[in-house]
Formats: sequence, structure tokens, C-alpha cells
Amino acid sequence: MEEPTIPKEVDLLVAGAGPGGMTAALIASLEGLDVLLCEKSDQVGGTGATSAGTLWIPGNRHNKAAGFPDSAEKADAYLDALIGKDKSGGLRAAYLQTGPAAIEYLETRSDVQFLACGKHPDYRSNMPGAAIAGRAIVAAPFDARLLGDDFGRIRAPIPEFLVLGGMMVGKADIPRLLGRFRSVGNFLYSAQLFLRYLTDRLRYKRGTRTMLGNALIGRLYYSLRKRNVPILYNAAIANVEGDRNGVTGARLKVDGKDVLIKTRKGVVLATGGFAHNPQFRQMFMPQPVPEHSLSYEGNRGDGVAIGAAIGAAMTQENAGGGLWTPVSITTRADGSKGLFPHLVLDRAKPGVIAVNSTGRRFVNEAVSYHDFVEAMFEANKVAPSIPAWLVCDASFMKKYGLGVVYPGHRNVEKFVEEGYLISAPSLEELARKIAVDAPQLRSTVTRYNRFAETGVDVDFGKGETELNRFNGDAEHGPNPCIGPLVAAPYYALALWPADLAVSAGLATDADACVLAADGKPIPGLYACGNDQGSVMGKSYPGPGTTLGPAMVFAWRAVMHARGNA
Ligand SMILES: Cc1cc2nc3c(=O)[nH]c(=O)nc-3n(C[C@H](O)[C@H](O)[C@H](O)COP(=O)(O)OP(=O)(O)OC[C@H]3O[C@@H](n4cnc5c(N)ncnc54)[C@H](O)[C@@H]3O)c2cc1C
Repeated sequence: MEEPTIPKEVDLLVAGAGPGGMTAALIASLEGLDVLLCEKSDQVGGTGATSAGTLWIPGNRHNKAAGFPDSAEKADAYLDALIGKDKSGGLRAAYLQTGPAAIEYLETRSDVQFLACGKHPDYRSNMPGAAIAGRAIVAAPFDARLLGDDFGRIRAPIPEFLVLGGMMVGKADIPRLLGRFRSVGNFLYSAQLFLRYLTDRLRYKRGTRTMLGNALIGRLYYSLRKRNVPILYNAAIANVEGDRNGVTGARLKVDGKDVLIKTRKGVVLATGGFAHNPQFRQMFMPQPVPEHSLSYEGNRGDGVAIGAAIGAAMTQENAGGGLWTPVSITTRADGSKGLFPHLVLDRAKPGVIAVNSTGRRFVNEAVSYHDFVEAMFEANKVAPSIPAWLVCDASFMKKYGLGVVYPGHRNVEKFVEEGYLISAPSLEELARKIAVDAPQLRSTVTRYNRFAETGVDVDFGKGETELNRFNGDAEHGPNPCIGPLVAAPYYALALWPADLAVSAGLATDADACVLAADGKPIPGLYACGNDQGSVMGKSYPGPGTTLGPAMVFAWRAVMHARGNA
């Protein structure tokens, strides 16, 4: 796509080309608005391109068709139980009631398409109103060859999620690739994937079979491109024109030059939140402030600061500031450090425990990634728990893998040499190496091994919820999430808290209009994605807690600006 000429005036200016901003720009174009999307970097996608691309949309049509009916009322009951009665000023009701319509709108008018996830339990699956299946949808895989050379405009997934340096794999691909020599079907499937990848690499820097968040961004970008929506790269929004009584445009830094763009309908802030702004982290995150973030490094809190400069309010109920995941620290091929998020692959499998510096468990290891980190913060108030340690034995490592070490890896020793894993022939020696109380670690494991026999974790209830069991091993009994640690060598892996999204942001009304400190909307100023305070407060109800609201409130913002509220 050619670089657009910079207009002096547009209907709508959207700042930030992540899922929130791209959705807003696409809908604005579909609604016939004259729109400009400005992006600080030279690529689209932000954190969204590296995400799992899942949206939490209760009552969506895909899951209904797949036989999982749901309703806004049932989801509301769940959020009542998890978060408390709605104090969001109507955001929650608006989200639940119009989420399915927003998605259907996009799917019927653009190449943005989703698939039902089917069974994908809510993250507190034992609470009233929780669903075991039916609320999550995921971006349909996208053939990025459709973009030709513009494929390079899509931000790549993190290297830790790529196979052979550039091939994306989905959750369903993993068992087939790992079991490629176990059946003819698996072998042919894997061979086909590898062949496609090799062919891709003749022309592209990475595989074009994109999935998850990368497919979501690919689909949004393809749709924007088809409609010739102008995207201005290396163009950062610096401030807005106007004050709390109304916004009439914005100033951008484009390739270092100041540019004023006037707006007839408004400015949408979608700059991805403040994850890489140390000052905002200090203000909104728990102490000690977590060092690590999986958010795109260019997300410096620009939107939030721009709003605050004209008197916008921040959400008050989101103290806690982050939506979390535990990460381990990897060393990449080029020697740089990476973060591997421990989302679903290892913690819930039978035969791994998490301990803190006392050598004691402090959490049900199979809870959601967000709840796991919240438990780290709580435990850390009593005894050092950052980092916490995942501890497993040799059989676990072989069968399930740990972090970036995939199951059956032939050279686990390499990860020990690099310092990613710590290993030792006995639990006592392992404890000494990771500075954990050795007799206590031994007694923790002895106790846990008894739970493996009975199938009951009397300390933390591991394996008791649908979510726990969903990520466990269905073929393992009596409890799919608990197995003994008995076979040397033993391994330990350090886990740190990291945000994958921020929850504190600009306060808005149900149409994503930014609110001033007196609670009144600032005409012409909207926020979506991580620039908008999360409608879920600081809770993480289920898969897709941030992308769902990012896209639904982008739709609501544009409909409001357009006059279709
Ligand atoms: C590993 C991982 C998995 C995840 N999986 C999921 C999932 O499955 N479901 C889910 O709901 N959430 C998920 N998330 C979180 C989700 O990716 C983010 O919450 C989401 O991408 C936020 O969207 P956004 O549009 O606000 O910001 P981003 O996607 O970060 O995009 C922000 C964009 O704004 C640009 N920008 C920044 N400043 C400026 C400026 N001044 N002017 C112009 N542009 C600017 C940035 O360059 C960037 O392109 C995941 C996150 C990670 C790290």
C-alpha cells in the first residue's frame, strides 16, 4: 500500500494500529467516514500480533451454532460473582449486550472472521454463571500470501512461539507435530506443514500460515487494505487539540515533523496502554512493580498521558493495573533475552509444583495465568515468592516439557547449560542451587506425592475445577493435574510476573467516550483497547478478556462518532 498524503482534516483520526485501533479504523471506513489511522512504528499489530487472538464474547453466534447456547444474563451473573455488581456506568451491560452484534457486523462486512473455540472454560469455572464452553472465539487462520510483500507490515509473533525460526503452530497442531512418527495421518499432516513452510521461506521472512493474534491482525490489515484505508506509519499522536469541553483534532509527529490534523467527528486513542511507561507502572501497579512486560515495547502510555493532559479521568476500580501471566526468561538465538508466557501448556499437567523461597507451595498451579500471578503477589507479602519456581522430575520433563523445552526434547542439557533450567540429582541439591529451604522442599514433595496417589490436593484443590482439568492430562488418573515427582534428575525453572495487558486506563462511558474528572464525556475523544480502563476491572474472567472489549468498544466508539449510537 502506498504511503498516504497527509490530510489537513478528516472525520475520524485513529491513533495506534493494534486490534483496537485497526478495528475502529475499519468500522469507520465501513460506515462511510473519512478516516486516517496513524501508527507510531512502521508495522501494524502491536501486542495483538503476538497474542493468542481469542475474544471473550458471551452469546456469540459461532458457539450457538456449535451447540453452546449462552446469554448476556448468564455472563452477567458470572461477572457479578467474580467482580461484584456492575459499577462501570453501563459499560458491562453495553459490552455483554452488543458484543455478538459487533462481531457479526465485522464478519459480514469484512475479511475479519472467527471460529468457535468450543470447550474453553471460563477462568473461574466453579463460580455461578461460569461457562465451560461457548464464550470464546478465535481469529480464523489467515493465509498471509494474500498480502504479498505487505506481509512485512505485520508484526511477527514472539520467537518463543515460532517453530524452526518462523513457522506458527496452533494448539491443535502440537500433538500432531510431536506425534509425527506415531501415525501415517500425523506424518502426512506434519510433512504438509513443513513443505508449506519451506516454500514460504523462498519468498517471505517467515511462514505465511498465520494463526491466533497474527491471523487477527492479518485479517484486519487485509480488510483495511481492500478498502484503501490510509495508514500513516512512523506517525505518533503527541496531543489533542481542544480541552475537556471538546476535541477538534490532534497533533502528530510524522517522521519527526509536527503535523496538525483537524477532526470533524473525533479522535480515537488506541495506543496500547502504559505497559512501558515506568512512571505509570509505579502509579498503577502493585509493589514491588513487576519488571517484565509482554506488551509491545512502543506502548509508552501516550494515549493515557494525552487524555490526562486535558483533564480526562483514569478508572478508579482497576487498582492493580495489570492482567498477568507468569513468564520464564529465555536466551534467544541472537543472545538477547525473551519472555515465555506460561499460559496453558505446563502448569496444570500432572507432576509439576510451584514453590516459593520457603520451599512451600503457595498456589494451585493449574489456576489461570492471571490468578497464578495474583497468588505470587499475595505470597510475596509473607515470604519472597518472586521469582517462584516450577519444580518437576525427569519423567515430567520427557512427557510434557517445561516452558520452551518441548515434550521429548532430546537435548534438555542445553537448557541447563544456558541457565534456563536448573537441574540436580536430588531434591536437596536442587533446593540448594535455587536457594530454597531444602528439608521443606523435600517434605513438600513427599506430601504432594501422596496427593498424587489419592487424587486429592487437600492444600490447594488442584484438579478440582473444569479449567484445571481442561489444561491437565485427561489420560492421567486419578487426578489429571497431579502426578508424583520421583525420577531424578529434578528440574527447577524460575517464574516471574509479567503483564500481558494493563487494566487501568482512561475512564469512558459505554460508547467509549473519554470522561473528564467530573464524570462528563469529553466530546470528540474516544479510547479503546488498553488505553481504555478495562470493563472487567482488574479481573480476568476468561479467554479473550482484553481483545473482546478492545474490538467491541472500538465498534461502539465509531458508531457513536458516526451518530448511530
Ligand atoms: C502472549 C500474549 C497473548 C495474548 N493473548 C490474548 C488473547 O488471546 N486474548 C486477549 O483478549 N488478549 C490477549 N493478549 C493481550 C492483548 O494482546 C492486548 O490486550 C491487546 O493487543 C491490546 O490491544 P491494543 O490495540 O490496545 O494495543 P496493541 O495491540 O499493543 O497496539 C497498540 C499500537 O499502538 C501503537 N502506538 C503506541 N503509541 C502510539 C502513538 N503515540 N501514536 C500512534 N500509535 C501508537 C503501537 O505501536 C501499537 O502498534 C495477549 C497478550 C500477549 C502478550
